[in-house]
Amino acid sequence: ILGVSGLTKRFRGTTALDQVYLDIAKGEVVALIGPSGCGKSTLLRCLTWLEQPDDGFITIEGKPFGRETNGTVVRRHGGRQIDAMRPRIGMVFQQLNLWPHLSAIENVIRPQMVVLGRPREEATQRARALLASLSLADKAQHYPDALSGGQRQRVAIARALAMDPALMLFDEPTSALDPELVGEVLALLRELAGTGMTMLVVTHEIGFAAHVADRIAFMDKGRIIEDGPAAQVMNRPADPRVAAFLNLIG
Ligand code: ATP
Ligand code: MG
Repeated sequence: ILGVSGLTKRFRGTTALDQVYLDIAKGEVVALIGPSGCGKSTLLRCLTWLEQPDDGFITIEGKPFGRETNGTVVRRHGGRQIDAMRPRIGMVFQQLNLWPHLSAIENVIRPQMVVLGRPREEATQRARALLASLSLADKAQHYPDALSGGQRQRVAIARALAMDPALMLFDEPTSALDPELVGEVLALLRELAGTGMTMLVVTHEIGFAAHVADRIAFMDKGRIIEDGPAAQVMNRPADPRVAAFLNLIG
């Protein structure tokens, strides 16, 4: 469902992504781990074209994303292709996910109307159903600052799911949460994985990576240096840098 090939991104002196290759099949859950500054967030931002890669190809559902097949960057002529494909990817960040001036349910309704052109009634029904399925029915009218961090993150996930994405990206969705709220968001991610949603999750929750992810991809200095079945990467990593990192955080 996702293909990444030779993806490279430089910021002045830094090479944040150095020839990244990654394929994710439909229904797969991949945990992306690695030390701070190795390029995980940059990869997710390039995948949604929030950041323009310098080199490489991305395909979403078999279609080139952001580039013509001859390599021309699409954004240079209007970015329509990017706008059309971006809703196929849902993204949930570490924090600052919701519009503070809109209620929880409006946060879920508006993007469906604006981006997908859904009529308000249909968007509202979808939002109600999603909030209910995430145990947030009674919080629908609350504004973000009246929700707990875990509830806010669940609303952000509902908002992304309302767009019916082919792929969900999560960038450390629990790292801004108080420890007692981490569990509820991880439980939701686990449930989502169980529904067959294709997911790429940047996380420091090694338990989540080990027990929920099908695969673990390990990044170091802008490269994916190991990528394999979760149990194998956890128990028998091929690269000593992965073993050292796992020892450090485990
Ligand atoms: P963390 O685990 O701390 O979130 P990360 O793996 O997500 O780290 P990135 O945020 O992707 O790391 O950063 C990768 C590298 O690119 C870092 O060296 C960072 O300083 C650099 N970088 C990221 N964004 C920018 C930017 N907008 N301008 C300049 N350098 C940047
Ligand atoms: Mg990051």
